[in-house]
Amino acid sequence: MKKIFLYLLIILIFSCCKNTKSEKYFESMNTFMKVQCYGKKCDKANEEAQRKISELENLISVTKPQSEIYKINTAKQFPVVLSEQTASLIKFSLEMANKTEGAFNPCLYPISSLWGFTKKNYIIPSEKEIKNALNLIDYKKVFIEDCNITMAQGMMIDLGGIGKGFAGDEAIKILKEYDIKSALLDLGGNVQVIGTKPDGSDWSIGIRNPLGQIPLGILKVNNCAVITSGGYERFFVGEDGKKYIHIFDGKTGYPVKNNILSTTAIGKTGVYCDALSTSLLVMGIEKAIKFWNENNNFDFIIVTNEKEIYITNNISENFTLNSDLKDFTLKIIN
Ligand code: AMP
Ligand code: MG
Repeated sequence: MKKIFLYLLIILIFSCCKNTKSEKYFESMNTFMKVQCYGKKCDKANEEAQRKISELENLISVTKPQSEIYKINTAKQFPVVLSEQTASLIKFSLEMANKTEGAFNPCLYPISSLWGFTKKNYIIPSEKEIKNALNLIDYKKVFIEDCNITMAQGMMIDLGGIGKGFAGDEAIKILKEYDIKSALLDLGGNVQVIGTKPDGSDWSIGIRNPLGQIPLGILKVNNCAVITSGGYERFFVGEDGKKYIHIFDGKTGYPVKNNILSTTAIGKTGVYCDALSTSLLVMGIEKAIKFWNENNNFDFIIVTNEKEIYITNNISENFTLNSDLKDFTLKIIN
């Protein structure tokens, strides 16, 4: 009898201490998401992380009429008072705009709407229309003091280039509050991880091949964000037979057209890497390398249409190119 009691006690202690796993799939921010986490309170943690992401979607969506961004974009007078969270995210987006000299620009909504990307009624606008819209995208004309925002009439903010990365960071904060030490978040291709896998080994992240279905390769990482932007995500082919992608060059008012097919930024936070993945694509390869050299607080994998893979030296040893893709060339950036 004593023995049975002892066994039961051991089983009970063991099951209380065991790391359990929670995996949830859901839709938010116009994309499919997955959160997988390990820990004693993983189910509750996962539920709360998902709740946080939906809450942020309702706060920063450019199309939802209840969002704060919608409120600013349709305001008849300024200043508009924002929540601290939205105000600080807009401030960050403006800092990134300054840092990247406008490659990242959170004010391009008048341009992307003109090209029909907001309602999927794609059209090539006239030069005159583009010129008029270009007058409404100067991010230096947005002022935030405390939580008050002021900008010129007709200007519109769009946080689509950083929203998912920001949501990932906020979801990670929640997971950590529940003592989660191992998690993988895949927010529509934006991957963010906490720690390592439960067995202590690095996470293996598949990097998408912009030219096909099988992954380009595997990147081994821990405790970081791996965020990809690419023209393959959303684009249309115009009546002129040319391809127009959803990422815009604020200097011209046209969708970006260079030899880059995809950019992956790897670093500590989702919001920074999300802003970077978009910016590097706009910059083009030479400027992207220069920006990396000047900042040196992130890494990248950039794929061009010449099947070159530019990869920064800090992570090159953690990347394994898919052995079936022999026609790609790896170029290590030092
Ligand atoms: P991502 O997939 O993170 O590269 O973000 C693309 C989204 O960011 C687009 O759908 C637009 O909402 C927005 N966007 C497009 N061009 C830019 C740009 N140059 N800077 C900032 N956001 C942009
Ligand atoms: Mg981005």
